[in-house]
Amino acid sequence: MRRGVAVLVLGGLWASAGCRGAAAPPAAAAAPDRAAEALAARRDALVGRALGDNRAIVLLQGLLDAAPRRLAGSPGSRAAVLWGLATMRELGLENVRAEPVLEPCWVRGEERAEVVGRGAMPLRVTALGGSIGTEPEGIEAEVVEVRSFEQLAALGERARGKLVFFNRPMPRWLRRTGQAYGEAVPQRTNGAIEAGKAGAIGALVRSMTTAIDGHPHTGAMHYEDGVPEVPAAAIATADAEALAALCRQGPVRVRLVLGCRTLPDVMGANVVGELRGSERPGEIVLIGGHLDAWDLGRGAHDDGAGIAHVLEAVRLLQACGFRPARTIRVVLFANEEFGTSGGPAYAQQHAAELAAHVAAIETDSGGFSPLGFTCSLRGAEAEKLRRLFLPLQEVGAGLFVAGAGAGGADIGPLHRAGVPCFGLWVDGQRYFDYHHSALDDLPMVHERELALGAAVVAYAASVLADR
Ligand SMILES: [Zn+2]
Repeated sequence: MRRGVAVLVLGGLWASAGCRGAAAPPAAAAAPDRAAEALAARRDALVGRALGDNRAIVLLQGLLDAAPRRLAGSPGSRAAVLWGLATMRELGLENVRAEPVLEPCWVRGEERAEVVGRGAMPLRVTALGGSIGTEPEGIEAEVVEVRSFEQLAALGERARGKLVFFNRPMPRWLRRTGQAYGEAVPQRTNGAIEAGKAGAIGALVRSMTTAIDGHPHTGAMHYEDGVPEVPAAAIATADAEALAALCRQGPVRVRLVLGCRTLPDVMGANVVGELRGSERPGEIVLIGGHLDAWDLGRGAHDDGAGIAHVLEAVRLLQACGFRPARTIRVVLFANEEFGTSGGPAYAQQHAAELAAHVAAIETDSGGFSPLGFTCSLRGAEAEKLRRLFLPLQEVGAGLFVAGAGAGGADIGPLHRAGVPCFGLWVDGQRYFDYHHSALDDLPMVHERELALGAAVVAYAASVLADR
């Protein structure tokens, strides 16, 4: 025993196995790993079928055609629910149903802006989601450009009555675009609050993209009780650059017209369907994306791709003859973009069975080439699962990032309830070029990349359901 340990330290595992001699013949060490072979075969079947059948893009096109504009609370949101129910039934899922979710309702209306007086030019803008509108004739004021909330606070009274122009770009040098987005996006979510505190009359926010182009990107924003509410719009990055150049030459005045307004909440739905488990149907692996989308494009990447991923995943599993031991439950979440109401509603309505959720996977990062998964588990628990995900290395999707939080907003409540959560991780270099803008449409999604994402989700869901 002691000698064996010494050889292990000096010579490594191979020498250790050898020195055990008759107790563990070398032939046993070289025996094929049947479990690993089965996982590799499963991966190959799903990937081959996904690429060969090429159905993920067809599913995505079906959603975009049926519900091109599906912002929470809109008629398109209801059309998307009907499409989701019909598609799940066509795919042969069981227990297909719509579960009620109260959704906010905000409508966009007219939106335009222009520099008036010196340097007069039109500016391409779009209202931020949830903004109040302006008077019909708009608001007009001198612009103050800032790159941080600290800079705005330091202006003191000089910001009063002005239009605050938040112009800090997403940092280009960060490799992970999601991290760059996180660095700049507080300008969009909280810019109106800070502008209101400063006594300004409105907020103009540089669009959240590293691309320099003429497409404004919308997104959620907030107000705060007790702080005056001011209208807020995003400005295309090319126009933000032009406006900043004008500001460097002297005072600039901008007129902003926003016709957006908030209407009473309406009833929407999470769409739920199941591939029932063959052995332990009461235990659930949830896979989901969000059915709603911002209204400027058709939400092909965000999150039409996620919807296509999860629906194609259960089609693939059936087509390949994999009936998982546990139930795979597909959830098309209502309203993620406008304050996330579908995810919390699901967790609340299923509170009694959350303990039966053995895993949840969310895909909400676009339909690009899959790179792997994030995992909320840490340490030994994560290491036990890592082995199951190793075969994905073969298709370039073998990253397995433990201790990475919920993996998505919709499954956040499940994460907080203790459910192991996973997020599909894709190549995000181009995501924010399109995100929340008119560019987020079908031509920006590559059918093979989307199909690979669906295969990878199918693989992950099935190994978690079978382990
Ligand atoms: Zn999304």
